[in-house]
Formats: sequence, structure tokens, C-alpha cells
Amino acid sequence: MAYFQQKHAAGRHFLQIPGPTNVPDRVLRAMDNPTMDHRGPDFGKLGAQVLARVKQIFQTEGHVVIYPASGTGAWEAALANTLSPGDAVLMCRTGWFATLWHEMATKLGLKAEFIDTDWRRGADVAAIGEALAKDPQHRIKAVCVVHNETSTGCTSRIDEVRAAMDAAKHPALLMVDTISSLASIDYRHDEWGVDVTIAGSQKGLMLPPGLSFNAISAKALAAAEGAKLPRSYWDWRPMLAANATGYFPFTPATNLLYGLDAACAMLLEEGLANVFARHDRHAEATRRAVRAWGLEVQCAEPRHYSSSLTAVRVPEGHSANGLRAVILERFNMSLGNGLGPLNDRVFRIGHLGDIGDLQVVGTLGGVEMGLRAAGIPHAAGGVQAALGYLAGN
Ligand SMILES: *Cc1c(COP(=O)(O)O)cnc(C)c1O
Repeated sequence: MAYFQQKHAAGRHFLQIPGPTNVPDRVLRAMDNPTMDHRGPDFGKLGAQVLARVKQIFQTEGHVVIYPASGTGAWEAALANTLSPGDAVLMCRTGWFATLWHEMATKLGLKAEFIDTDWRRGADVAAIGEALAKDPQHRIKAVCVVHNETSTGCTSRIDEVRAAMDAAKHPALLMVDTISSLASIDYRHDEWGVDVTIAGSQKGLMLPPGLSFNAISAKALAAAEGAKLPRSYWDWRPMLAANATGYFPFTPATNLLYGLDAACAMLLEEGLANVFARHDRHAEATRRAVRAWGLEVQCAEPRHYSSSLTAVRVPEGHSANGLRAVILERFNMSLGNGLGPLNDRVFRIGHLGDIGDLQVVGTLGGVEMGLRAAGIPHAAGGVQAALGYLAGN
């Protein structure tokens, strides 16, 4: 039963927001161990093992640092470690999270420039290439892209962004927010030449909120030596020095690290390729349901469809928040709200993390019943369309 629930509701609550996601029992059991001495002899073994495992999830041989912080903290760590006051950074306004990261960069004293989108597709790679070509002085020190824009359900093609930066022969760092894509959508820190990857614990990694990550390239580490933004808590250098023996410079979130160790083990047992294929399949089933209902997916570019979540537009004159309230009240399921200008215009179905076919079918069943109960014009048959796809593929 949910901690603050007033009275018992039979069955499991469906937490189908695009993060935090459902925490599997194996991860909960792992966290349910005694908190240990983080300077004692055993901690180093846990630290070393979990740091080694998590690198495999980022597909990197380089360093990954772990902060007791939400994803927002890891955004700040990425910027503060590599940049200096007044540096220009090129960002892509793909949605609400990109907007917040831009706001942070401005507050930190960076000159943050924006390339816009209509919030219905990923980053405009051609525009990034053009902006870099127009910068022979190399004023731009970093290109920042959100891999999976959680507010819109649109992904950006990081391999193409890398290719555009290479074609322009531009030395800017590439920083990528994978907070809602890591361990859900294929992501390759090393192969795609990313300099700093930012991630969080509470989405594809199937953990509660509270941890965040920077994966760091050699080039980013070199930039950190000359960077002049003030940094103390977020400084990579004492972290990496302590991590070398499996320890941390301050108190780590010990029990979340037990959980992270278990979550990495589960992802590696399933195999990352299978994890990504599972998410792709559930996203396709969801989009088929949405189309059968006669509703529109927010992402208008099929190459940019997200496998973590689907944002669904409600017909003009109807309330997405009203629909979500009915679904919570009647069917005990939480769906994501629309953020910023999309508030009340879309609802977001999270299908990332520890999810199997029957959770997807149950989720879509709750949405279809909700559409009916809330009086939102739609056609029946979305769940049927998803069943057909899942059974046949
Ligand atoms: C959730 C999310 C964030 C914010 O992370 P917090 O853990 O809430 O600080 C940032 N970017 C993206 C893409 C996200 O999905």
C-alpha cells in the first residue's frame, strides 16, 4: 500500500510516469541491507564493483562519477567542471528539460545560446553544424543536447550530432543529458565521442531518486584542469582520486549504491541489446494504441520517437490533466503531466524501466478506460492493436 494512501486500494498502483519508475523487488531487497562504514574495509569492494558495473551501462571504458544528487546536480557538475565564466555554449531547445538546463547555464555565468525546435522532434543537427561552421574562432566551448526530451517524447540523434561536429572540425565538448534514456534507449558514450554524459538513478536505472552520474571523456578531464567556474562539491578531481580505491571523498548514498549494484547486474543479465529492444517494442505497442484511439503522438518525426515514453496530445477543448485525475482516481494509475507550454495539452505514458508486456497492456487498458470515463473523443480498439502487435512480435 502506498505510504500516504488514506485507505487500502486492492492491487498494485501503476506508476507509469516517465520517472521515477517502478523499483524491482530485487533492487528493494538489495537496498534493505545494513548501512555500512563508508571508510571501512568492506566499502571499497562495493565501491569498486559498482563503479566497474555502471561503466558498462554507459558503454564507456572511461571514468563515471556518482553523486548523491538528483539529475539536476549532474547537469551542474558537467558545466562547472569543464567551463569558465562567459564561455559560449550551444544548446538545443527540444523541450522543457532543455529549457531548464539552459536556465542553469545562464545562472552559472555562461553565454548559453539556443537552437529552437517546435518541441515535436529532436535537436536540429543541420542547425548545429551551421552554428559551428560560423564559429571559426571556436568561441563555442560546448554543445549540449538532451538525448531523450522527457517533456515531449522526442529523442535526438547523438551519432548525427557527433558527425556534424566532426564535419565542422570544431573542438567544442559534447555534453549529453541521458537522464531518461540511459538503460532504456541505445546510448554509447565512447563510440559517439561524448565528453560528458549526464544521468540519474530514477528512470531507466530502476532505482529510487537520489543518485546522478557524469561519464567523463579524457578530453573533458583535460578541460577540467583549466576550467574556471567555481566548483567544490561537484569537483571531479577529489572524487576520482577517492574512487581509484573504491571510496568517496564524502559520505556516499550507501544503500542506493547497493541498489545500483543490483540494478546493473539485472540489466547486464538481460543484456543491454535486449533491454533496448524491449523498450522499442513497448513504445511501438503504445504508439499503435494511440493511433487506434485516433489520438496524436506529440513526436512528429518517426526517426525521433522515444522508447522511454510516449506523450499523447488530447483533442482541442479537452483536458489532459482532467483525464489523468480520472485515471488516478478510478484505476489507481499515475501518468505524466504536460510540462511548461504542454501543460494540460498532453499526457505522458512512461514505459521505461522494469516493465514487461503485461504492465504495458495494463497501462494501455487504464488509459483506454480513462478516455471513456473522462468523455474524451476517441475510437475503441487501442488495447486490441497493442495486443496484436505484442503477440505477433
Ligand atoms: C528527469 C529529468 C531531468 C531532471 O532530473 P532530476 O533528477 O529531477 O533533477 C533532467 N533531464 C531530463 C531529460 C529528465 O528526464
